[in-house]
Amino acid sequence: MVRPLAPHLNISLPRGRLSARAAVGILVSTLVAFSACAGGADASNRWVGDHGRPVARSSPPRGPLAVTDDGLPPSGQLPPHPPGSSSVSAPPDAPSSPGAAGADLLSRIPTFPPAPPAEKITLPVGPAAAWLTHIPTSQKVAFLTIDDGWVKQPEAIQLVQAAHVPVTLFLTIDAIRNNPGYFKRLEAGGAVIEAHTLTHPELKGKPLAFQQHEICGSADQLGALYGRRPVLFRPPFGDKDLTTLLVTHQCGMKAAFFWKETVDKGVVHFQEGHTVQPGDIILMHFRPAFAADFLAALQAIHDAGLTPALLENYIP
Ligand SMILES: [Zn+2]
Repeated sequence: MVRPLAPHLNISLPRGRLSARAAVGILVSTLVAFSACAGGADASNRWVGDHGRPVARSSPPRGPLAVTDDGLPPSGQLPPHPPGSSSVSAPPDAPSSPGAAGADLLSRIPTFPPAPPAEKITLPVGPAAAWLTHIPTSQKVAFLTIDDGWVKQPEAIQLVQAAHVPVTLFLTIDAIRNNPGYFKRLEAGGAVIEAHTLTHPELKGKPLAFQQHEICGSADQLGALYGRRPVLFRPPFGDKDLTTLLVTHQCGMKAAFFWKETVDKGVVHFQEGHTVQPGDIILMHFRPAFAADFLAALQAIHDAGLTPALLENYIP
């Protein structure tokens, strides 16, 4: 059995004329921002892979600047605007900065044939939400999912709008609360918003009430913010237990998802093989390299002869 692949987390100090103090501040902010990403921040020996070859990752240094093991910063250290976020200068519904996504970026968006009419899968009957790493289909489709929401770049909106491809966003309430309007614009561009907890904790092993608060609470808040209550869920770090799936079902959501490929810094990491397969679910994040990641994901789908399709259309 192939060990699930988690995305890389590579953090380096900025070079140049930055003072040591500024550099440390940026490092801390970076740690905080990336600590929230699925699989990208687990501090303790999470396996990451390079094309299926697992590598043990060691823990980051502990101390007053370290993030906690559950991937969250200690209380009070959450920055309102993670590094790379252009929401610092962009009001929630301000137009995108002119030229934020250059013509060169937009010209690299692959073109796809239309997605075929979706053939819905069958979900198991029972008290637990389905757990899916891919959609079991032979249709020539793949599914692009984008997690968290800490980094909010105008060019991401432009790229999603220009690509005309469906994407599913698994949003964390703490990551989006400073600018929910940003994701409304993505929604207008074809994205569908689903749940990814309130605070991005590790859920596996946590008590029922804790998981209910995180899972149901996030679906409730997203429903209130966007007018559509999520029907799908992704647990932070892709980690879950039976309680997670029972609670997901209790909270009115049908399925929870892992992934087959991850994208980071413009590189697609395959859990199995070297090609996107029909039905694969691809994971990326709202990160500073959004444009490179988005284009790499679409190119991989294109190279496999597949078309992006909407995950929700395959769930009954
Ligand atoms: Zn996440």
